[in-house]
Amino acid sequence: MIFAFVSGNPALDLAGTVTSRRGDPVDSLASPADLERWVAECDELPDRVTADSATFRAALSLREALYRLALDRVLGRPFAPSCLKVVNEAAAGPVPAVALSDAGLHMSGDLRAVLSYIARSGIAVLADPHACLKECGGAGCTRIYLDRSRGARRTWCGMEECGNRVKAAAYRARKQASSRN
Ligand SMILES: [Zn+2]
Repeated sequence: MIFAFVSGNPALDLAGTVTSRRGDPVDSLASPADLERWVAECDELPDRVTADSATFRAALSLREALYRLALDRVLGRPFAPSCLKVVNEAAAGPVPAVALSDAGLHMSGDLRAVLSYIARSGIAVLADPHACLKECGGAGCTRIYLDRSRGARRTWCGMEECGNRVKAAAYRARKQASSRN
């Protein structure tokens, strides 16, 4: 399973580890080992953490709460209170330590601290009235991303196949329209 970091925020990327949420959902975090690998592959997080089954369950519940709140935000409806509770509680814990060197920023901490960092990062983006959150326009893609493009014109999540699919569908539509003329 290949992880995608295309949402512009680690909390949204975590939510995006379940794809096609309204069709046939695919969960790329099937085990604690998957979660360890996801954290290691995410640029913003520590290189190495260990996940036990309790922390793994906490991560999945944080993920689902973050997704729901992001969707609430996209749809312009009030946040689901039970999900606010999950995210706020996760955010209240200690966060990873950071250190600067010539190699850049180095972050270290255990998985609980990582979850706390992700929750805070999610809160920061969900609370920002200027943050433009969108759901991908790709067919069946339910990924929510932060649109930082000029004029907020981005229409898909950044996964290669989503953009290509959208372009191919537009091409087919144009062709059909011109063949009808
Ligand atoms: Zn997409």
